[in-house]
Amino acid sequence: MAVSDRLYIGGDWVEPARTDTIEVIDPTSEQVIGAVPSATAEDAVGAIAAARRAFGDWAQTPARERVKYLTAVAEALGARMAEIGELITCEVGTPINVSMMIQVGLPVTTFASMAELVEQFSFEETIGHSVVVQEPVGVVAAITPWNYPLHQVAAKVAPALACGCTVVLKPSELAPLSAFVLAEIMEEVGLPAGVFNLVSGTGPEVGEVLAAHREVDLVSFTGSVRTGRRIGELAAATVKRVTLELGGKSATVVLADAELDRAVSAGVAMCLLNSGQTCVALSRMLVPRPFLAQAEMIAARTVASYTLGNPLEATTSLGPLVSAAQLERVRGYIGQGIDEGAKLVIGGADPPEGLAKGFFIRPTVFSEVTRDMAIAREEIFGPVLCIIPYDTEDEAVEIANDSIYGLSGAVWSADAQHAVAVARRIRAGQLDLNGAMFNPLAPFGGFKQSGHGREFGKFGLAEYLETKSIQT
Ligand code: NAD
Repeated sequence: MAVSDRLYIGGDWVEPARTDTIEVIDPTSEQVIGAVPSATAEDAVGAIAAARRAFGDWAQTPARERVKYLTAVAEALGARMAEIGELITCEVGTPINVSMMIQVGLPVTTFASMAELVEQFSFEETIGHSVVVQEPVGVVAAITPWNYPLHQVAAKVAPALACGCTVVLKPSELAPLSAFVLAEIMEEVGLPAGVFNLVSGTGPEVGEVLAAHREVDLVSFTGSVRTGRRIGELAAATVKRVTLELGGKSATVVLADAELDRAVSAGVAMCLLNSGQTCVALSRMLVPRPFLAQAEMIAARTVASYTLGNPLEATTSLGPLVSAAQLERVRGYIGQGIDEGAKLVIGGADPPEGLAKGFFIRPTVFSEVTRDMAIAREEIFGPVLCIIPYDTEDEAVEIANDSIYGLSGAVWSADAQHAVAVARRIRAGQLDLNGAMFNPLAPFGGFKQSGHGREFGKFGLAEYLETKSIQT
């Protein structure tokens, strides 16, 4: 059992204002595997005050000093990779191999890359008779979701610290354990008191205080659109800066000249990653109508090759969903897809065979989906792919853009220039062509209701800076 009964505030492990805890459930065994404090508004205010007190000195620290801390954090995380990977697999259900790579490997890269970037970053330039300086924005509240818990924390904490901001982190109540390991590491590397603070608790109780408080200068939020809207509302009262990384309904566009086998199987993989609980999941697949039957066959074959089971076993490629509530929600969508008249190619809402325990769902592919169906429009956040046929390339672009979201997408074509031309027409924050990999130095973020602001690389750093002109 991973039990923490204290919060990390002002460089100390302090007792929370009350003894209530939040239990962490393993979605595979359905057993309680940990507990963290359910903090209160009073704790949140204490953490904000600690971050404010620490800000003045930390903001003045030379960048090369801050680089040392970030590098030490990256190294310490790297040294505890196996332990953290297992912890996240147990709280989220991500297969262990994927956990090691994405849930821990990526955060290590993020801390290391922010250290490198800030070392080269130019915080000052001269424009005519003005000196333009970039200063840290101040106290940052980071509010994060459960699906890639440490990755989303690193995406905010690393650039904030790199720029000289101080941080109050509120991790998701469903997967808070790795944030506690990070706090231990912050203490171990000797980060000055109050620069990083951790307050675990619920959104309404702790998150809302962080979003509304006037001593918080910036809220960086990753999560659902509904919560993003609420945070925007609360933050508006004190005109603080807000960055929002929200949901998606991203499309793989398979062009007529694409290598169908590769495009469809890669599209399926990017839909099923982390059981579909990925903001950039490619949950729609647009296929030229003449290739529909073939695409369905390839998709079904790919899905059938996945092994559903205990995510701690190296042979498992698909774990459970994170919670009973998430399982109900995804089942509901599968039922709705059937009721709406979509063609069920593989999967379905019935429980998978041989898995009596755990929040498991069968990976599911629908075809002949039309764009007015709920399964084509709403973020399901489960392993459910919607194949939508199209007749012309213009129609494919129109369908890809027919969404309130604009987070991600993919284009497949034998002609690289053609793929780029289509990608330029899609209103989304990142497009991967012909299976190109995630780039941790490229900016990441959404168009439309997928949010605003960017994370990672130099664009991610810039979010944590204020610009000042000094005329001389
Ligand atoms: P969520 O919005 O329910 O919760 C996210 C965080 O917000 C949690 O820490 C939660 O406690 C907090 N919160 C909840 N209500 C709050 C309130 N009223 N005020 C302040 N904070 C509050 O989201 P989730 O279920 O944890 O995550 C899934 C969602 O996150 C999906 O929609 C997914 O697409 C999105 N997501 C987006 C990205 C991205 O980078 N764009 C990445 C991962 C996940």
